[in-house]
Amino acid sequence: MARWGMVVDLDRCTGCSGCVTACHAENNIGPAGLDQAARGRAKHWIRVERYWEGDFPDVKLKFRPVMCQQCEAAPCEPVCPTYASHRTADGLNAQVYNRCIGTRYCANACPYSVRFFDFYNPSWDKPLQLQLNPDVSLREVGVMEKCTFCVQRIRATQSRARAEGRPVHDGEIQPACVQACAPRALVFGDLDDPESEVSRLAELPRGAKLLEDLGTRPSVTYLSRQTQS
Ligand code: SF4
Repeated sequence: MARWGMVVDLDRCTGCSGCVTACHAENNIGPAGLDQAARGRAKHWIRVERYWEGDFPDVKLKFRPVMCQQCEAAPCEPVCPTYASHRTADGLNAQVYNRCIGTRYCANACPYSVRFFDFYNPSWDKPLQLQLNPDVSLREVGVMEKCTFCVQRIRATQSRARAEGRPVHDGEIQPACVQACAPRALVFGDLDDPESEVSRLAELPRGAKLLEDLGTRPSVTYLSRQTQS
């Protein structure tokens, strides 16, 4: 059984937000519209945080993509009264939409602010509805949604490999954000495979977890920046 995880190399991230765009397209994340966005209700399963150091013209700009950290000890799971938020055997922090009753306890418990409540039904101006991904369900008003590590891609690849009688190869599964990242700042794979690229990178000395003092044991490792810019 795999244990899925990701490595984010902060040295490679250029802040282009290609990952954000790809995630919206893959996962049918609808536009918020001006009114809802103004009320802080826009949804981004992955966001690119920007930090500035110094004063113009000697400014250093840093980027940090942040998605669900798929924590092994996820604070969002035990607070869900309907088990809509739960852990899968392969280490995903899953969300069952038709079990969710919208208490939003999970969003309050998550220290990474990566869970989003659907305050409105999604809608797309024609012809944008034609680009919806049939592999991802549309979420209706009243439920929580979040990054799934593109579970639809994971399950499709596992099914294909099973049908062909072979294991899933390292690098064969790419969540949309990973696929879209031109400088390869994002690497996805099986943390239980010591030979996988993600395992190797996660063991580098410059690897760290976000808010690891909280004991959440995230499945995402950040490689700290070494270059100055
Ligand atoms: S696509 Fe890659 S380089 Fe661009 S913001 Fe996302 S992680 Fe950074």
